[in-house]
Amino acid sequence: MNILRLINNQREYFNSGQSRDVKFRIEQLKRLKVIFEKYEDECILALGKDLGKSQTEAYLTEVVLIRDELKMAIRNTKKWSKPKRVPTPIILAVASSYRQPEPYGVTLIVSPWNYPIALGLMPLIGAISAGNTAVLKPSELAPASSVIITKIISECFRPEHVISIEGGVEVATELLQHRYDYIFFTGGTKVGQVYYEAAAKNLTPVTLELGGKSPCVVDKKVNINETAKRIVFGKYLNCGQSCTAPDYILVHASVKNDLINALKKNVIEMYGENPEDNDEYPRIISDGHFDRICSLIDEKHIAFGGNSNKGKKYISPTFIALDSTDNSIMNEEIFGPVLPILSFKNIDEVKTLIKSKERPLALYIFTKNKKVENDLLHNISFGGACVNDTMTQYANPNLPFGGVGHSGIGDYHGEYSFKSFSHYKSIFKKSMTIDFTRFVRYAPWKGKFNFIKKIV
Ligand code: NAD
Repeated sequence: MNILRLINNQREYFNSGQSRDVKFRIEQLKRLKVIFEKYEDECILALGKDLGKSQTEAYLTEVVLIRDELKMAIRNTKKWSKPKRVPTPIILAVASSYRQPEPYGVTLIVSPWNYPIALGLMPLIGAISAGNTAVLKPSELAPASSVIITKIISECFRPEHVISIEGGVEVATELLQHRYDYIFFTGGTKVGQVYYEAAAKNLTPVTLELGGKSPCVVDKKVNINETAKRIVFGKYLNCGQSCTAPDYILVHASVKNDLINALKKNVIEMYGENPEDNDEYPRIISDGHFDRICSLIDEKHIAFGGNSNKGKKYISPTFIALDSTDNSIMNEEIFGPVLPILSFKNIDEVKTLIKSKERPLALYIFTKNKKVENDLLHNISFGGACVNDTMTQYANPNLPFGGVGHSGIGDYHGEYSFKSFSHYKSIFKKSMTIDFTRFVRYAPWKGKFNFIKKIV
């Protein structure tokens, strides 16, 4: 495949104005909705093959999100594309000012393997809604999902508008040799830096949706069983392979044992005594990730679980009870079903520990104490927070989703996807008849300084 030719074709198509036409954008989104619905069952099967996701989990965490994003974009693209008026100071009268969104042009979207279909198609919906063309590269580590994404895209779009290019690092590296008008990358922080560097060469704007260690703080006096249930939900969805999964727990020392017991009880209630036999408990994506996660399990500190089966890429829900952060598991994003649990005595320790690490994508807080909640929300930097729950912040399309610092740059979902894929042109339009500025702006200014100071 000649990638340069393909990108040139997309640029030519973009320059023809076809993809910018708002009616065309909506038609294309409607077409994507029809074709996606046609292949919904195949998508669910592919997610089962790649990650062992159950039908229900695949439906709730990928299909529903794509459908909702499509519905929202179809309903609102016309409104989002309109110019937005902004106020004009009286001193500049008579004039009007507005911001006009325009598509960037040829965009590159690169997606990861953990929610392989949603994380490819959701940014794509934003790119189309904003009027761009797109080259999408799905992840090679979720091959069945990559095939179905490519099938949907090739049936839905002309390649000069949207194309899916399958492949691994070599293909991605080749794609990055070329110039785009926008790059939207979802993946790990280290690889994100590769994309940022490539983008910098052409001053290409980016969205980087990255990962990191998202803490989960559990204060004293909370409803322990309900808290544990909500943590187990967020941690073990997709077997811990979610960018927003609670990475580690910081629990008030007075309730640490109660929490561990409640976590065990809820894991057993949700996945049974032996999750290895449960087909609703997903699997680790690859042997490489299996080995990496197992190497993070410090046998001395296992409080629950710790079982694995490489042939089945199975790692059981595992808790690691730690007395200090001095353990290799606290140095990198876990991205698997292993949950370190540390305790604290006062909330300042929590702030110091979280601030000693890179800024997280998510912060989870379980507390009844408003002061503690406000203290953490105001004094810690994070992409998004969720109070008294885990992961569900992601499902609200009115809340932009993205990180800060090492967890990412920019955000998307709903209208924010449209905004991410649009450049807003600032336009100032002046009347040719009435001009208040004429009294101050034209030289000669001699003798007018005090008058100008008074009115400007
Ligand atoms: P990854 O960074 O390894 O891969 C992401 C994509 O980049 C893949 O398509 C891959 O082919 C490509 N790629 C990998 N190495 C490359 C290189 N050297 N040069 C060019 N392209 C390269 O990430 P992953 O393992 O697929 O996903 C897991 C990571 O993604 C985790 O860190 C997770 O937190 C993060 N993530 C973030 C979000 C989010 O929305 N913020 C969502 C899901 C996953």
